[in-house]
Amino acid sequence: MFQIPELSSGGIIFSYQCSNQCRHCLYACGPYHRDWMSADRLDQVLEGIARHRGYLTGLHFAGGEPFLNPDLLEHAIRKASDLRLPVDYVETNAFWCHSKERTESMLKRMEEAGLRALLVSCSPFHQEFIPFENVMHAVTIGRRVFGHGGILVYTSYFYDQLSGIDPKKPLPFDLYVEAMGEENASLAFATEYGLIPNGRAATQLAFLYQRRPAEHYSGESCSRELSSPHHIHIDLYGNYIAGLCAGITLGDAADLDRLYRGIDLTDKPVLKCLVEGGVETLLQYAVNEYGYRELPEGYIAKCHLCLDIRRHLAGTGRTFRELGPADFYAHLDE
Ligand code: SF4
Repeated sequence: MFQIPELSSGGIIFSYQCSNQCRHCLYACGPYHRDWMSADRLDQVLEGIARHRGYLTGLHFAGGEPFLNPDLLEHAIRKASDLRLPVDYVETNAFWCHSKERTESMLKRMEEAGLRALLVSCSPFHQEFIPFENVMHAVTIGRRVFGHGGILVYTSYFYDQLSGIDPKKPLPFDLYVEAMGEENASLAFATEYGLIPNGRAATQLAFLYQRRPAEHYSGESCSRELSSPHHIHIDLYGNYIAGLCAGITLGDAADLDRLYRGIDLTDKPVLKCLVEGGVETLLQYAVNEYGYRELPEGYIAKCHLCLDIRRHLAGTGRTFRELGPADFYAHLDE
């Protein structure tokens, strides 16, 4: 049995639907996703978290884009407040902040429901879709509604850097990279954004980073990452996802009591390989059992290698219960 500790911090993914289709997105979100968490499941998940709150320091609500469904967001804020769960913030890309009036009325609605802080995304990935003016509305009006400390900008580096662009128009990503130079852009994404080499970033931004052969990533088990209680996510289907490991589900978060008793790995070969041996073991399994072939150009990180193997396995037609949601693997290149 694989034991994981009770969560200390985490996010609820209401949906993978988003107004954007960002090139770095860990969860490969986009407009084509249609499913949303039901209010009943959300209540069930939050009540489960409340029963296991011993080490909990904070929750956040995320997506996809949570403001695509303000009724569900308001419901979640009120429910968390009733359960006295600490909600650190709601994430948004500010797509809906096209006017000052709409921004103010929406933020006041959420503040009245009990929200105390908003995390506003700002980066060349997001501004490829969202005019910078929307971000300014969210930040300036948000500071009036929630106070200065109630607005977190992720990242303030890019907020300052992009404040000189035309605020009314999205900024094409290729134009940004060309203006910065590939080396400076890749450095800024790694150091100022903390880019995670998994999800869509691994498939669409690999050209910015050095690749190495699979053997370079040998010898590292992933049990520490997969059992980390920090910054876990629970999605609309109930998938319990460890911090950086998008596309891997540890089990059903609607039944946390069972999950925290231990995870049986006997019918989860991918998870078993990663926990017991790491990507090297997963690679051997995929090559021997499913004909996986290494990418001749190599990989930018061990999570990139892991993702490429998992994508191959997900495409074999066999059902791997620990690979999910299924949609994740279908939208990595889009
Ligand atoms: S290699 Fe795979 S299991 Fe390990 S940390 Fe990266 S995504 Fe998670």
